[in-house]
Amino acid sequence: MTPYVGRFAPSPTGPLHAGSLVAALASWLDARAHGGRWLVRLEDVDGPRCVAGADRLILQQLAACGLRPDEPPVWQSQRGALYQDALDTLVAAGRAYPCGCTRRDIELAWAARGVARPRHGELVYPGTCRAGLQGKPARAWRLHCEAGVVDWHDRRLGLQRQDVQAEVGDFVLRRADGLWAYQLAVVVDDAAQGITDVVRGEDLADNTPRQILLQRALGLPTPRYLHTPLVLGDDGEKLSKQNGARALELSEPLAALRAAGAVLGLQVDGADTAGWLGAAVRAWRATWGPL
Ligand code: GLU
Repeated sequence: MTPYVGRFAPSPTGPLHAGSLVAALASWLDARAHGGRWLVRLEDVDGPRCVAGADRLILQQLAACGLRPDEPPVWQSQRGALYQDALDTLVAAGRAYPCGCTRRDIELAWAARGVARPRHGELVYPGTCRAGLQGKPARAWRLHCEAGVVDWHDRRLGLQRQDVQAEVGDFVLRRADGLWAYQLAVVVDDAAQGITDVVRGEDLADNTPRQILLQRALGLPTPRYLHTPLVLGDDGEKLSKQNGARALELSEPLAALRAAGAVLGLQVDGADTAGWLGAAVRAWRATWGPL
């Protein structure tokens, strides 16, 4: 059996808050409960959304909670060469193509087919540039998605399925502004770091089929997945800076761990963070047992 390697992969767009600690704690507990290693990867590919110093603060907050990575953390902003290699591989295999469409072009393509623009969410890409750029300048790079439903298993949510081509369309690998897309970076890094188990918030569950298609296109293994419950803000949406999330207090790690544990269904006690974490690992193992 491949030894367990897990990870926490925060985007340093701000400090850890009650919601992001849940994902950090769950990924750490799952690694410890299975005798595995736990890594931290700072997902700072979207430079304009990152906040200076948030990466260091997140690492301090994790350490204050007793969550220390088993290897030095890595920063995605330093790993562009790996993402370029992966894109080159996909292009050479005929699986990635340049796209010259603006948002408006995509809306017009759907309107021409009699489909009104959806009011919410991202537009499904209709595949216009699969047939070539037709004289338009290249803006982004997209994955040519294979047709059909992706079936996958989540340890908490059970069987999941999505027809990526129909529900998302050929998705972006490198953005029009030149930045690497999350989907490509996360797939390349999970494989490069030997990640066997992805434990993260449920808001990312519907990204998983895209990541599985990319893994297949690149000949990479698919890890196991467990998506955790989310902490909701006042407006019923996932807790974020926009709806009232406050930075975790470095001075109150035990209270923060207890609150995160409660979201994960862990009713355990401990006199200090180490004691609480030890009890939480045992409780986690009892629920999420052998893989
Ligand atoms: N960086 C992503 C986020 O903070 C998480 C990526 C992942 O766990 O796959 O939302």
